[in-house]
Amino acid sequence: MIARGEGAYLVDHLGKRYLDGNSSIWTNIHGHGHPDIVSVIQEQAATLAHASALGFANEPAAELAAALVGCFPEKTLTKVFYTDDGSTAIECALRLALQYWEMEGQPERSGFAAFDRAYHGDTMGAAALGGIAAFHERVSKLGVPVCHVQDMAHLLALPSEEVSKLAAVVIEPLIQGAAGMRLWPKGMLAELRAWCDEHEVFLILDEVMTGFGRTGKMFACQHEDVVPDFIALAKGLTGGTVPLAATLTTQRVFDAFLSQPGDDRTFYYGHSYCGNPLGCAAALASLQIFEKESVLEMLSNKIDYLGGLLRDWRDADRRVRDVRQCGFIAGVEIGDPSGTAFPPGDKVGGQVCIAARMHGLLTRPVNDTLVLMLPLCADFDDLRLAVAALRAGLDDVIPIG
Ligand SMILES: *Cc1c(COP(=O)(O)O)cnc(C)c1O
Repeated sequence: MIARGEGAYLVDHLGKRYLDGNSSIWTNIHGHGHPDIVSVIQEQAATLAHASALGFANEPAAELAAALVGCFPEKTLTKVFYTDDGSTAIECALRLALQYWEMEGQPERSGFAAFDRAYHGDTMGAAALGGIAAFHERVSKLGVPVCHVQDMAHLLALPSEEVSKLAAVVIEPLIQGAAGMRLWPKGMLAELRAWCDEHEVFLILDEVMTGFGRTGKMFACQHEDVVPDFIALAKGLTGGTVPLAATLTTQRVFDAFLSQPGDDRTFYYGHSYCGNPLGCAAALASLQIFEKESVLEMLSNKIDYLGGLLRDWRDADRRVRDVRQCGFIAGVEIGDPSGTAFPPGDKVGGQVCIAARMHGLLTRPVNDTLVLMLPLCADFDDLRLAVAALRAGLDDVIPIG
C-alpha cells in the first residue's frame, strides 16, 4: 500500500521509503507533492472542479492550450484537443486523421502504418496500432487497418498501392517504451518526417512517455527538429498528478472541420471530462515549474551522471547485456553471466525489481530490461541509490558466484 509521496520518494503504509524509480509508471515529473501543483489544484477545486467543454470554455483549459502551443515553433501545432489519457489522445489523433482524409475527398486513405513492438495504449484503435503481442494480439483482427513495419527501411520498401491507403504513420519518437526502452537510430525521425511529406501521409507522434523533459528536451521531436501533424501528450502533462491528455494539431487540420451550411463536418468525439479545469491548472503549474526551477538546464548533468553510472555497471558486470539510455530514461537488459538471455518464463527481471524494493527502490521491468525513469527532480544521490538498489537486487536473485 502506497500511503504518501514526498518528492522523488514514495512511502508505504508501514512508513518505509522508496525511491520512485519509474516515476509511478512514467507519469511523475517534479516529484510528489510539489507545493506549486498542490496549491493550484486546491484553489482550482474550490473555484471550479469541472464544467462541460461542450459549448463552453474555461480559463485553465484556454491558458494551457496557449502554453502548449507556445512549446512548438510558431504556426505549426496551433490547435489543442483535450482527452483524459494517452490512449484517448492517440485515439483522437487517429480519428481526426481518418475524418480529415474522408472530408478532403480521399476516403481510401483509411489505414495506418505503425512500427513493430510499438505501444500506443489500450483502447481499441490504439491497441490495434500496437506491435507487442500481449497488448495487441486479441484486437489485431478488429477495427482499424494497420500495416506494421519493422523500421524505416521496411517503410521505404512498401509498395505504392499500400502507401496510398495510409492516413498516417504513428511512432514513439526516439525510443519505444513498452518494447523495453528500445532506441531508434539517430536521424530516423527526420527521415520519417521527410517520407511523410513526400507521400502526403500525416505523421502522428506519440510523446505520451517521452514528453515533458524525459529525453532531456521538452519533447523528443525537438532532438531532430521535427514537427508532426499530430502529437499526443499525456502521462507527464500534469506533472503526474491528475489524468489529462492533449492532442495537438495544425491549422490545416482544424480548418477542414469547419462546417459549411448543409455540410456537417463535426468531429463527433469528446469525453465528459474534456478540458477538465483541475487537470489543466495542474498542467499549467507543471509547465511553470520547468521555467522557475530551470528543470531542463539542471537535467543535463544528471543525464550524463546516470550514463556514467550505468556504463560503469555494464563494464563491470557480465550479467548486464545492454544499457540503453535516452536522456533521463534508461533500460538495463540483464541476462545469464554466460551472455545469453534468461528463459522468459523465469521472469528474472520481475524478481530483480521485487528484490530491489528491499534496497529502497520501486520500479517495474519490461521482461528482462530493468527500467529507470526517475522524476526529473531526482538528484545525484538518488541516481546512485537507484543504480545501487538494482545491482543489489540483481545480486540477490542471480549471485555472481
Ligand atoms: C502509456 C503510454 C500510452 C497510453 O497511455 P495511457 O495514459 O496509459 O492510456 C500510449 N503511448 C505510450 C508511448 C505510452 O507510454
